[in-house]
Amino acid sequence: MRTEFSLEQLADPDIAEIDSILRKCVHCGFCTATCPTYRLTGDELDGPRGRIYLMKEMFEADRPADDVARDHLDRCLGCLSCMTTCPSGVDYGRLVEHGKAHVEATAPRALPDRLMRSLLALMLPGRGRFRLAMTLGRLAAPVLRRLPGRLGAMGWLVPAAPAGTMAIRPGTEHGVAGASKGRVALLIGCIQPVLRPSVDAAAVRLLNRHGIEVVVPEAGCCGALPLHMGKVERARATAARLVDALAPGLDGLDAVVVTVSGCGTTVKDYGHLLKDDPVRAAPAARIAALARDVSEVLDGVALQVGDTVKGRAVAYHDACSLRHGQRVTAPKRLLAKAGFTVREPVNPHLCCGSAGTYNMLQPELSAALGKDKAAALAATGAEMIVAGNIGCLTQIAAQGDTPVVHTVELLDWATGGPMPPALQVS
Ligand code: SF4
Ligand code: SF4
Repeated sequence: MRTEFSLEQLADPDIAEIDSILRKCVHCGFCTATCPTYRLTGDELDGPRGRIYLMKEMFEADRPADDVARDHLDRCLGCLSCMTTCPSGVDYGRLVEHGKAHVEATAPRALPDRLMRSLLALMLPGRGRFRLAMTLGRLAAPVLRRLPGRLGAMGWLVPAAPAGTMAIRPGTEHGVAGASKGRVALLIGCIQPVLRPSVDAAAVRLLNRHGIEVVVPEAGCCGALPLHMGKVERARATAARLVDALAPGLDGLDAVVVTVSGCGTTVKDYGHLLKDDPVRAAPAARIAALARDVSEVLDGVALQVGDTVKGRAVAYHDACSLRHGQRVTAPKRLLAKAGFTVREPVNPHLCCGSAGTYNMLQPELSAALGKDKAAALAATGAEMIVAGNIGCLTQIAAQGDTPVVHTVELLDWATGGPMPPALQVS
């Protein structure tokens, strides 16, 4: 794609990066066919190629984002399915990160929209605040669910069961009885310990059972949620806090393990996110290099599999952040090794509509994607659905009746741990 940035514009490293990404695009439109939002609306501007043109015009003209660019970029899930499809290696993810940040900084928004975004950015990335929001949300859910739009969507996303007690505490160490085969830091994050404390508990048991020591740092949100909303400075500040918490303990670690794949994608990109931070650039790059989805660590381990789950059918939902963001393929392999019969839904590349805060900010599109995904997974006939991202687990559980569990909960069960709580109540 030909671009028309001035030399002065290109002196800005961000514009230089945008320019080099745009130049790789050959307008072929292959990406459009695999874009979930284009499939729903049929509008070229709701597909990657259309959004690329919108961003090109916006940045070349060096102008604030207008309503059209804002709305079509807001509707982008950030699922990165387009990057997997693109034959020219266009880094749409980085481009849309710049685009969303520009929208956030310059586009006009109605007051309710601004308030909603500020509220989400304040409440979500903190365990205490999020727990409070869930408690209030559960009380309000019966009323919220009668309302249309964003408030109604929030009502449906609040799980019926109360938030569990945090099973794995920050600042703890979980050693192994025999010889250690490795030592990892486990990032427990902000949302998952409140919505599904059973996941990190299963991860610690599973890693310990296979000889891997686990340290749980005093660290909170990784910055993925504010980044998703285009709040880049807030994301950097949040990531900086996590780097400060982790950096002193990096020596002797084999990996920094993440059990939420949406967070893992962000942590693996810390080297870029904090590249201009004079104090944190080096430790951030080190953390990014050590970051692994929990399934990647387990892929190198001989699983101690029993007969408990032999032949039980699971439908595997490939979270976009694993499939497109990190290109991690280990979970299906591990589940099969553990004895499960793994089934896949039709169109496994399509997003479930969770996408960070998307399910609250774009409720209609998100619900349509969530219903399609839940139906496709249920159509496999499997008795349970498995995924590696808390956003997907919550979204799919809200749209269907089949129990939904995390990959590590199943692997823990298959190797001697308890049956996951979501299966015990079904
Ligand atoms: S990130 Fe997903 S929703 Fe956005 S343009 Fe790419 S495929 Fe479409
Ligand atoms: S597939 Fe790649 S090169 Fe083709 S239009 Fe999409 S982003 Fe551009």
